[in-house]
Amino acid sequence: MVASLPERLLRWFDEHARDLPWRREGTTPWGVMVSEFMLQQTPVSRVAPVWEEWMARWPTPSALAAAAQADVLRAWGKLGYPRRALRLHAAATVIAERHADRVPSDVDELLALPGVGSYTARAVAAFGYRRRAPVVDTNVRRVIARVVHGAGDAGPPRATADLADAEALLPADDAAAARFSAALMELGAVLCVSGRPRCDACPVRADCAWLTAGRPEYTGPTRPVQRFAGTDRQVRGRLLDVLRDAPGPVPRDALDAAWSDAVQRDRCLLSLLDDGLVEQLDDVRFALPGERH
Ligand code: SF4
Repeated sequence: MVASLPERLLRWFDEHARDLPWRREGTTPWGVMVSEFMLQQTPVSRVAPVWEEWMARWPTPSALAAAAQADVLRAWGKLGYPRRALRLHAAATVIAERHADRVPSDVDELLALPGVGSYTARAVAAFGYRRRAPVVDTNVRRVIARVVHGAGDAGPPRATADLADAEALLPADDAAAARFSAALMELGAVLCVSGRPRCDACPVRADCAWLTAGRPEYTGPTRPVQRFAGTDRQVRGRLLDVLRDAPGPVPRDALDAAWSDAVQRDRCLLSLLDDGLVEQLDDVRFALPGERH
């Protein structure tokens, strides 16, 4: 009998899944949740060491909730998008106070936590609790676009349709569905990549509508490519680096030295203040949140 798509994908995953620290036996739902916050827009190789340190230091939501925000931002290091760190801290506080220090397993309860969106809620339910929940990230969208729709790229996200597409592929059993979701993500991360997919090594090549059609060029709408150099995101990162590397509050001069364009620098500093990532102590001193000495 010919194996089904889920069977072949799961067999491939059994043999080829990368050994990522948060996939190891004994990882708690909290560990899964921390990994999912960190992995948003940040590559696995940068996340892995920070996640290991983080879990050793704050193994439960209540441990993180008790930490000072400045320590949390320092530990976040250079993962980028540091608002994620404060949102994770806020989510940990809610879990500790309202959920008896246990990460919820229900998607709606997860969605009610600070910083938890559709993807993260379903990823925690699936990977933390082995529940059947469609988990849709960029990689999954690309694999589905190719296998199911015969298109080389997924184009801009379509929340409801993307979830329905992923749901339709999931095995009925909870544990198998959770593993299938992880396998689909893995396929998109290591073989069905955006630039040069490795179809020759792909376990679902026989089912792939795009490959069968001769891999036609994608002509639909595209997402804008994000640049980094010179952007406000880069400037915000530089300013935060100054504060993270200092033992306490820093003078305005130190921030001025981090970026030469004064207009852009001031705009970024204001946005960091608005986001609660930086506090102004007086006319000339700035600090990470809660850090006054
Ligand atoms: S056959 Fe190629 S395009 Fe299709 S899913 Fe596999 S890697 Fe992706």
